[in-house]
Amino acid sequence: MDYEVIVVGGGPVGMMLAAELALAKVKVCVFERLKDTTPYSRALTLHPRSLELFDLRGLKSKLMSIGKPLPTGHFAALDTRLDFSVLDSSSNYTLYISQHDTEKVLEEWAQSVGVEIRRETEVVSVRQDAQGVEVTAVDLNGKAVLSAAYVVGADGAGSLVRKQAGIPFEGTDATLTAMLGDVVLAYPPETNGLSRFTEHGLVMIVPVTDRLHRVVMIDPLRTGVPKEEPVTLEELSSGMERILGSDLGICEPFWLSRYGNATRQAKRYRERRIFLAGDAAHIHFPAGGQGLNVGLQEAMNLGWKLAAELKGRAPAWLLDSYHTERFPVNTALLRNTQAQTLLMGFDFSPRMMGLRSMLSDLLRIPEANKELAAQIAAFDVRYAPDEEALPHALNGRRFTELKLRLDNDTVRNAYELFHSGCFVLLHLASDDRLNDVVPWEEYGHIQVVRASIAGNRNEAEWDDVHTALIRPDGHIAWAVPRSEPQPLEAVKRGIARWCGSHHI
Ligand SMILES: Cc1cc2nc3c(=O)[nH]c(=O)nc-3n(C[C@H](O)[C@H](O)[C@H](O)COP(=O)(O)OP(=O)(O)OC[C@H]3O[C@@H](n4cnc5c(N)ncnc54)[C@H](O)[C@@H]3O)c2cc1C
Repeated sequence: MDYEVIVVGGGPVGMMLAAELALAKVKVCVFERLKDTTPYSRALTLHPRSLELFDLRGLKSKLMSIGKPLPTGHFAALDTRLDFSVLDSSSNYTLYISQHDTEKVLEEWAQSVGVEIRRETEVVSVRQDAQGVEVTAVDLNGKAVLSAAYVVGADGAGSLVRKQAGIPFEGTDATLTAMLGDVVLAYPPETNGLSRFTEHGLVMIVPVTDRLHRVVMIDPLRTGVPKEEPVTLEELSSGMERILGSDLGICEPFWLSRYGNATRQAKRYRERRIFLAGDAAHIHFPAGGQGLNVGLQEAMNLGWKLAAELKGRAPAWLLDSYHTERFPVNTALLRNTQAQTLLMGFDFSPRMMGLRSMLSDLLRIPEANKELAAQIAAFDVRYAPDEEALPHALNGRRFTELKLRLDNDTVRNAYELFHSGCFVLLHLASDDRLNDVVPWEEYGHIQVVRASIAGNRNEAEWDDVHTALIRPDGHIAWAVPRSEPQPLEAVKRGIARWCGSHHI
């Protein structure tokens, strides 16, 4: 085998996944057809859960030094903004950062942890058998055939990998298109951002650089234009005149693009030795800025599982749990983006204005606002609790930030323990017999942390926890309650079930 894993596509999701694999000492290569990261940024946001994931890997401060935190987001461009600041995290905002910059940070990280990146290399065929996967790629030197134990298609919406693996992409074609322009505005809005929904259509404007603004527009006179047809400055200008009463002196387009609301999801995220992640696995109207974010979250879910399989420590069910866990998350994502599209894309009549203003009023109710903010933030994601573990409210949930007082009396933010991509076994009951339960020296991929909780927002949730196993992607595999009569036996069983039973 040339590699343990070949990742096809070096967009944000492919780079994130490859870095996660390399962190776990997997020999991984990214094949990317572009010479360099595209300067045209589709995404402009990193939402709270993605920021937490970057925090887990020690990358958040780098991104923060580039982007700009904003405490709010939007749902269907309703007037009442979603308030992320009430969420239980120090990443309780959206980071306003271009996809270009996010990709650069990810690529640098991937390189620094040992990922081989082959740019200007286009994959043209992918074939698998029981032993491995053969990838044919064309680069500046011609055609080459390379092999790997696994291949991940992170090759975007038109995914060749998905097609060649024969995975159906089920859903609906586009029924509308919208436009965007990264442009100069001679008379930019006075406020930082602007969002206007009228009987003539929708316009949203945000600054993207010191010089450029992004104009996003749904113009009912133009929603039938196919996405392949280039956008003209004139189209944006006339739409802005109708919707805003002025085109704000729009000029000097840096990037104009048309995109649609095709909504599809791969029927399976895995076909034997081939996996899909990111836009290769799901597409939707970019409402609320979620696509890149969920793709990064998928990469985190898949990376450690694939590494465990390759290192011979994965339980039989682990690899399939990638699909089982992520498919329903993305089904909910598609529902949420379709709901937003209905609310902002098809109907600009007074009755829609009425519906939108009613929903906007409802979003003033803190609980309603928080519910939708948590959805967009991806804080509502809870994986199905492990049925064989002792029941506990934390099982399957995202691991929220905790301050820990370690045995040596230092206080640390628990997220710092995840920089190396290990499992963390958090032992909160000071039981010396923990050492006798498992031969820890054989478990290089588990970091055993004996600590007490030194404070956090959800401290009460941890009051009754004896020991918890936290997965490398920051979800809680299981927590053993202190009330359990034989907690160490439960810990031992839990380790065996999740981290490689052959050792115990
Ligand atoms: C207008 C718009 C605005 C958006 N705004 C947001 C936002 O604010 N927030 C958000 O989270 N998401 C947003 N998105 C969605 C986001 O851009 C995508 O979800 C994200 O880019 C998906 O990342 P990916 O790595 O899966 O795929 P891609 O970014 O599409 O990357 C795929 C990569 O694979 C490469 N590739 C493809 N085929 C091959 C091949 N055969 N061989 C080698 N390489 C190949 C491509 O060159 C590309 O680099 C937006 C999308 C649009 C259209």
